[in-house]
Amino acid sequence: MYDILILVVVLGIGVYLYSTHKNQAWAMLREARSSVAPCSTPLTYSIGTVDSHFGIKKDMLIKDLAEAEDVWETPAKKELFTYVATGGDVTVNLIYDNRQASTDALKNIGLEVDSSLANYNEIKQKYAALHAQVANEQKTYDSETSDYSDEEAAYNAEVEQWNQKGGAPGSAYAQLQQQKIALQAKYAHLKALQSKLNSDIDTLNAEATVLNQQIVQLNLNVDQYNQTGSSGGTFEEGVYEEKNYIQTINIYEYSNHIQLVRVLAHELGHALGLEHVDNSKSIMYKINTSTSLVASSQDIAELDRVCRLQ
Ligand SMILES: [Zn+2]
Repeated sequence: MYDILILVVVLGIGVYLYSTHKNQAWAMLREARSSVAPCSTPLTYSIGTVDSHFGIKKDMLIKDLAEAEDVWETPAKKELFTYVATGGDVTVNLIYDNRQASTDALKNIGLEVDSSLANYNEIKQKYAALHAQVANEQKTYDSETSDYSDEEAAYNAEVEQWNQKGGAPGSAYAQLQQQKIALQAKYAHLKALQSKLNSDIDTLNAEATVLNQQIVQLNLNVDQYNQTGSSGGTFEEGVYEEKNYIQTINIYEYSNHIQLVRVLAHELGHALGLEHVDNSKSIMYKINTSTSLVASSQDIAELDRVCRLQ
């Protein structure tokens, strides 16, 4: 009786809002219904923005989402989510930012990223080695740049001297030409050093970004790595948000298919109303640390709590 009363009251508000906030009112109504009979009708979702940097086609993402649905629908033995081309209750976006950029940069040099302690330690070692290497490269570059400047200044001064005398005699001229060629070669070498240094600094920054993510993911009691342009804050591979009855799933980062399906299943779980659970193998664990695509007993207990399956 109490439930029906709530539904009627919310319906009234829904009708009131209908003309100005059609989508919000509809979502509000859906939410009221789901609080009365949770999981009774499938939650619909559509795909919003898929940044091309992810290199994933929309039909592939739809398949990955179907796999993520199965994580919950298999134990629930019912349809909980349905993909609709447009106007779903939840909009799923793949948003590219420096977290994914860093993961991709490391992948390009053969370094796979995951949220394990072993991977963190591996990247930490590589970071330390590269940090030392970059320091050496910087030293070499600075000293060679300084040498080059001196030599160039000496060459220019000599050319200026001969010019004031009305030109260099044949032998001096030939020597100056040789000096000029040597300077040009040194300049090209400096450019190459600079380019290598810049590329190594980019890799170092990517490693720092990934390490900072892992520090949060693994809940490590260590300082974050310093880095220019770092976004900082708590790392989340994905996030489910509900603002003004607009529901959004944003995925920011993943390094492989299983991680993507897991993060999608996790955020779909939140959309259904599931909270985090403790077991680290679980889909609803706060950190994406496992490779399992099967709901744990804790996940299923949480699903039962929300959907009142039993
Ligand atoms: Zn979560």
